This record gives sequence, C-alpha cells and structure tokens, in this order.
Amino acid sequence: MPATKYIFITGGVTSSLGKGIISASVGKLLQSRGYNVSIQKIDPYLNIDPGTLNPYEHGECYVTYDGAETDLDLGHYERFLGKKMSQANNVTTGQIYQTVINKERKGEYLGKTVQIIPHITNEIKNRIKLLAKKFNLDFVITEIGGTVGDIESLPYIEAVRQLKWELGKNNSIVIHLTLVPYLSAAKELKTKPTQHSVKMLLENGVQPDIIVLRTEKSLTKEIRQKVSLFCNIESDSVIEAIDVSSIYEVPLKMQEEKLDETILKKLNLDVGQVPDIKPWKEFLRKLKNPKKTINIAAVGKYIELQDAYKSINDSFIHAGTHNEIKVNVTWLHSEKIDVSNYEQQLSGFDGILVAPGFGHRGIDGKILTAKYARENKIPFLGICLGMQIAVIEFARNVLGFEDAHSTEMHPSTPYPVIDLMEEQKNITSLGGTMRLGEYSCNLKKSSLAFDAYKKTTIHERHRHRYEFNDEFLNAFAEKGMVPSGINPDSNLVEIIELINHPWFVGVQFHPEYSSTVLNPSPMFSGFIHAALQNKKSINKK
Ligand code: GLN
Repeated sequence: MPATKYIFITGGVTSSLGKGIISASVGKLLQSRGYNVSIQKIDPYLNIDPGTLNPYEHGECYVTYDGAETDLDLGHYERFLGKKMSQANNVTTGQIYQTVINKERKGEYLGKTVQIIPHITNEIKNRIKLLAKKFNLDFVITEIGGTVGDIESLPYIEAVRQLKWELGKNNSIVIHLTLVPYLSAAKELKTKPTQHSVKMLLENGVQPDIIVLRTEKSLTKEIRQKVSLFCNIESDSVIEAIDVSSIYEVPLKMQEEKLDETILKKLNLDVGQVPDIKPWKEFLRKLKNPKKTINIAAVGKYIELQDAYKSINDSFIHAGTHNEIKVNVTWLHSEKIDVSNYEQQLSGFDGILVAPGFGHRGIDGKILTAKYARENKIPFLGICLGMQIAVIEFARNVLGFEDAHSTEMHPSTPYPVIDLMEEQKNITSLGGTMRLGEYSCNLKKSSLAFDAYKKTTIHERHRHRYEFNDEFLNAFAEKGMVPSGINPDSNLVEIIELINHPWFVGVQFHPEYSSTVLNPSPMFSGFIHAALQNKKSINKK
C-alpha cells in the first residue's frame, strides 16, 4: 500500500450515538484484512486532557501505557483492536492551543498574526499526520468528538476539509454517523435530521462519503434511497447501524452491511475476500451462551453514571466470557453503605470489588465493604483506592491502629498506612502529575497474583499519588496481609493479599485498562474463578 489512508468520523444530530464504537469497529474490520490501523480521538474541549475532569462530567479517564490520561473511547479502541493506544491517539483543543501559543511565545511565527486559520488548523492537521508517521500506519481513523454544528468542532471540520483536498482523491474519506429517529405515533423512521446535519457539513465544505445511520428499526429500501438522494451519497454507502445488545456485535453488523468493502472501494484498494473474524465470533458465541452465572457487588461513588467505570465493567465481560461465565455486576453506592446496613447490602454476592477513586466522599462505606469481605471470606478485589481501603481497614480492625488512614483523606492520621509517594511530595499542580502509565511488577511465586498471571514479571498501568507505606510492612505481614507484587525499580508495594482468606487481593495498578476482548485481564479471571469457587462452596452447604 503506497501511502497512509485517512478516515474521518464525524457525528450529527445528537451525541452518544456510538461514534467510538463505530470507529473501533471500522478499525477492527480493516485490521482483520491485514492492515496496520490506529484510531485517534479528537476532543474539542479546552482541557489539556480529561485527567482533571470529574467522572460525572466525562465518564472514566482511560490511561495509556505511556502515561496519558485520555478519553474513554481509547479504551474501546484498545479492547477492539487488541493494540495499545498512545498519547498521540488523543488530541484536545487545549493541547492544540497550548502548542500554538507556546510556539508564538518562542517567536516561531515572528511577524505573523496568529489565527485559527491557518495556525490552529495546521496544528490539527499535523497531529493527524503525526500519528501515521509515528506508527507507520496504513490507516489512520480520526474520530472527531462532538456533533457537527457545535462551535467547538468548526476548526476540526475545516482541517478535515483541507486535508481531504491536500491528500487528493482516493486517499481519505469522511464517514458521518447520524440518527434516524423512530416516531412511534407516525410509525415512521425520519431522515430529516440527517439531511440537516449533512447540510451543515456541506456548508463547511465537507461532503461525507459514507453515512452510517443509527436506528432502532431496520431501514427500508425507501429510507436508504431517500438518504442517498438528499445527501448525495451512493446508495451502497448508506449503512445501517441498528441497536444491538452488545457493543461487540457491531463489527459483525458493519461487516454484514459491507462497510469495510465500501471504504476500500472508495479508497481505491483491493476488496478481495471477506475475512472470517473467527476468534471474535467465538467470543460472541460464548458471550451469548454462558454456562454459569456469578454475582459481583462493585462499590464505587460515581455509580449514577454508567460510563464512570467503563473499563471495569468491560473487563468483567471479557474475563467472564472467556470462562463461559455470565458476571452480573451490581454497583452499590459507597455513600449509602453504613454500619446499620452493610451486612444486608453486601450479603449474597459471590465476590466483592472496591473501585478506584479520589477524595473523602464514600470512604467509610468502602472501608465497611472491605471489612465485610475479609471477615466473611468473600473473594475481594480492590483496585487502586480499593487496595488502599483494604489496607486501611486491616490496619484499623486487625492491627488495632486506631484512626489509621491515607494521608489523602486524613493528613495528620497517627497511622499513615497509605502515604504520598516520595516523588509526589514537591508537586503542586494537579494536571498530568500522578504516577501514570505502565510500570513493571515482580510477583511472588506462591501468591494468588502469580496463580492468576502465571509469570513473575507483569506490566500494568497506574494512576495514583499515594502508596502503601513501607514503614508498616512488617506489622501487616505478621498478621497476614502480605505484599505479593513489588516494583523492581522503586520497591513500591503494588499488590497485597491476605493469607487466611480464600481470595483477597488489592492492586495499586488498574488491571482493567489492559483487558481486551481477545486477551482478558488475568487479575479479573482470577477474581472470577475465586467468586465461582465461593458460589459452589456456598451451594454445597
Ligand atoms: N486517590 C488515590 C491515590 O491518588 C487512588 C487513586 C485511584 O484510585 N486511581 O493514590
């Protein structure tokens, strides 16, 4: 293949249509044809990254191996492609402006007035082309966040228009995803919003090449023809994206609709044979035919928003499906768990997870949760803050360290069992300054962690400022909470386990970030197995 081909994905009519899933599905289909593909997300907001955004605003913050705090769509890209995304895969308006303003201060535009066009648009184009160069890609898929018509998106649409022109024919295409709403009173699907949104793109000089229509009902031939006629789209380029029960069905649906073939034809590439994505189909078969079920309680404080714990929920799907187990995850609000109700709220689950988090809200409910799992010998997985909570609970209730805490919540605690990492002590600004990205961890041979990963060195991603305080290591170990994973370079404790418990593990890292459809997280698999064992032993009683 001569040069990189570019696919731009825009959205119209409403947000939340699943642009990220469509982008990931297109990526998956092209990848399965042997192409080297990567996907980039452009977020039209002024934050440099979503790291300082509240999950209620933005959903989960996803962390890449190279330590970027990014949009959760990058999680979809990794899970679908089974390939690591990087810093360069998430671009925000904040980053673009920061680069341009820094250049201006350095004098790089000396004598020139710095403007949105051409300076901002040039920087946008650079970021898109940079990805292709960096990873030597056959395809760059760029998902433009937001909805066409937003003021924030305008410079991006203009950059797409320019790039399309500069790259020349057959080297780039625009896929526009819109909604065809179903009006139940009229019993009709409506195309007018799509027509308007395409008109808006046209006003900005961009003619989409393919339209993907999100719909709850199957599209009739007439609807397809209407969109084709009024949006200047060939009829085989009008693609149906019908609602499905699992996002993982979307690549197959898109293959049925021949989206990949249409893309290849438009880019003047060989269509060839339809690839059989067997492992993916096998995953879906297992997903739909589980042999067993387990029930997990997950405790967090952002549970009102589905997207806040996206990677954790998906990790359960991946690990569960591979083991042919349906994992029902019930999210419990940590603020609603208290001494009067925790036993009742937590009883009946086969396993318990305490989620990551920041700040004081909901901490007491999480501590009670760890206590319940420890005392009742329920399989427990604590992730990041969840691990720290398990340590605090053990210090208070087993070691008798009254008021033991993390210095994050209680700076003057007499027992700072979780404390700020040395390298964090002089850091004052909050953006992008945590311990971020992939670090190695050595596992102790006879441990639950080793049983799960089946190797001595693992690499997992981090996002935290606080750590297990080494000073207390012996006190913990004497009473049965032992470190089973240590960072070989810094000696930081990355995993703790309980000795007198069937399966109780706390991890300072986030195993959920590296779980993919075809390669589930060993830590989640280990946890699910333990929960299943627990269920079996209860049923025997
Ligand atoms: N707030 C804790 C820390 O910064 C845990 C972070 C997390 O759960 N991601 O160490």
